[in-house]
Amino acid sequence: MKDTNCIFCKIANGEIPSKTLYEDDNFRIILDLGPATMGHALILPKEHYANLFELPDETAGEVMKVAKKMAGKMMERLGCEGLNVVQNNGELAGQTVFHYHMHLIPRYRTDGQSIGWKPQEISSEELDKIYRRICQ
Ligand code: 5GP
Ligand code: ZN
Repeated sequence: MKDTNCIFCKIANGEIPSKTLYEDDNFRIILDLGPATMGHALILPKEHYANLFELPDETAGEVMKVAKKMAGKMMERLGCEGLNVVQNNGELAGQTVFHYHMHLIPRYRTDGQSIGWKPQEISSEELDKIYRRICQ
């Protein structure tokens, strides 16, 4: 299914041109127009899924395969020394385009970016409580 109001549907299906690094029947990988670092790319499924929770299992598996392939190529060709795989779900988590996409962000020693979080302290009781909430 495509969403006629979705910019990533249009890009993924070639209705809006993009700098395409890779394309197959199910995915297009493009360069991000607001890159965090040199080579920042986005993997877009051609079908419209708003987020990870809507993604069919098969597509979820396939996206990791194309990510692995492209990430390896980027490491080799761009001379980056690391690479972040980022995928935001929901506005609170930083998602701004509501068509599932995975970010591949090459990292360079001097790129000036920091992609991470501030670790909090947690007690073993709290860990147990959270474990029970998720698993029991
Ligand atoms: P999100 O914040 O939803 O995880 O990521 C959206 C990403 O899409 C951002 O990194 C933003 O720069 C990129 N982006 C938004 N609109 C366009 C566009 O029209 N073309 C391309 N290539 N990237 C876009
Ligand atoms: Zn879409």
